[in-house]
Amino acid sequence: MNFTLHGIAVSGGIAIGHAHLISHTSLEVAHYVLPKRLVDKEVARFDAALESTRQELAALRANPPQQAAAEFDAFLDLHLMILADEHISRAPREMIEREQCNAEWALKVQMDDMVAHFEAFEDAYLRERKADVVQVVERVLKTLTGQPGHVPPAARHDVSMILVAHDVSPADLIQLKPYQFAAILTDLGSATSHTSIIARGLNTPCVVGLHHARELLRENDLLIVDGAQGVIIVNPDKHILDEYKLRQEQWELERQKLKRLKSTRATTLDGTSIELHANIELPQDLPEVKENGATGIGLFRSEFLFLNRDELPDEEEQFEAYRAVAKGMKGLPVTIRTFDLGADKQLSGAERVASNPALGLRAIRLCLAEPQLFRTQLRALLRASHYGNVKILVPMLSGVAELNQTLQFIAAVKQGLDAEDLPYNRAVQIGGMIEIPAAALMVNVFAKKLDFLSIGTNDLIQYTLAIDRTDEEVAHLYDPLHPAVLHLLAHVIGGADKAGVPVSVCGEMAGDLAYTRLLLGLGLRQFSMNPAQLLGAKQRVLTTSLPEIASLTQKILHTDDPMKIRELLDKLNA
Ligand code: PEP
Ligand code: MG
Repeated sequence: MNFTLHGIAVSGGIAIGHAHLISHTSLEVAHYVLPKRLVDKEVARFDAALESTRQELAALRANPPQQAAAEFDAFLDLHLMILADEHISRAPREMIEREQCNAEWALKVQMDDMVAHFEAFEDAYLRERKADVVQVVERVLKTLTGQPGHVPPAARHDVSMILVAHDVSPADLIQLKPYQFAAILTDLGSATSHTSIIARGLNTPCVVGLHHARELLRENDLLIVDGAQGVIIVNPDKHILDEYKLRQEQWELERQKLKRLKSTRATTLDGTSIELHANIELPQDLPEVKENGATGIGLFRSEFLFLNRDELPDEEEQFEAYRAVAKGMKGLPVTIRTFDLGADKQLSGAERVASNPALGLRAIRLCLAEPQLFRTQLRALLRASHYGNVKILVPMLSGVAELNQTLQFIAAVKQGLDAEDLPYNRAVQIGGMIEIPAAALMVNVFAKKLDFLSIGTNDLIQYTLAIDRTDEEVAHLYDPLHPAVLHLLAHVIGGADKAGVPVSVCGEMAGDLAYTRLLLGLGLRQFSMNPAQLLGAKQRVLTTSLPEIASLTQKILHTDDPMKIRELLDKLNA
């Protein structure tokens, strides 16, 4: 059947490929009682699923993916062992026969029992192995329910494969970064969720907020994904397919043309120089920063160093990571944000789930509540500042007391390094993110105490409009053009300018070409964005005359009718 799905456009480009459905949460299983005559069949179904999972693991063991970690073999051996354990291989079988229940239910009950055993261990290593039990059972359940599992390693470089997931966490997606897919589709998510931000960096078409794609699409369906429009065409006919193949070629041609701008200075038509910096998640992102001609790193989201692992990175490991980026950028600015953990980026095994994580113990609040963690990171950052142009950026500041406390903390860490005679840049710049309306309104005070400011529009919009940026149900209300947002932006940019303090925008608005001219018109001279968006933004800058956009920008700023604002923006971008 041929039909169309509409979602939220996250990352442009056209992909044509086949759907691969992935699932992470199949552990919610139903319980039903079987008629006696079907029990043998159910046992056979269970045995077959177990055997197929065993073969799947054994095949992986024999043919590890190219980039597999050193522990891959040991990890598979452990999973094969768990699979063979009688809790998983025998007990569910007996339960099906005894209680006439379905295989999924029997497996789930036995898994819970095994997990409880593991939880009782005193040894932390053994306790953590409960996660392996869950993963193994998930695999068997997926075979039982006919749902394909995680991305098969062999398919991780399949450029015609389109990932379809209910949701993908930022931590999961960052692990997929080295692989290549044709496109990524998810039911949940919004344009500025961290998952979407990473997807943008993959330079892969991505559409989120599709609601029921996981249910409506079938494995191997032929799909056209129009990432810029947020449209998916399912099982298209030949005529449509040809049309999109043509559009795909045009898109690729445009991208190739943009590459010529790599070394061109970003200067407006009237000769004003604009800084275009890059946002990164990990030191491994440096090649893309260079390929796209960024003149600095405006936001290194250091918290990604802390994800997908049981042990936190110690001072040495962090120092090496920060130093590698500082040295790699050869004197260009490298703005490293202290970790912003606690909302949609949780540490593995974090026990406390806040009732409203975005408003909870997140970012600088978590840093100040966990001084040991913060001190370790600051020591690593300061030590790395000796090797390049490192700047430290503090996220989610909300008030002056918190800012003072943070600055005092940094001063104390510096004293500690002095006492140990460890070198660092004494004049290292400390900046603050303006992403809470309270901070935006107090820009004058923040500008006095900090060396630079960076506006996090993703959160600033979320908190100004009271819209959860990760929730697709309210994504339509997430509006960078809301007059309240524009006034806050104008206030911060103007306030920083008056105080003589550099200000940039590092939220997703900075890389969205629809807003480049508007931000320039509001006085912004420094942007930081996903490297994949940088050359497009440069082209926009090169074709903009600041005197020409001045009056239209002011008009937009003084209009409160949303329709009119959009009309004026179209004019500005024409
Ligand atoms: C922002 O909030 O705009 C920002 C850049 O930070 P993050 O997206 O990591 O919250
Ligand atoms: Mg933020």
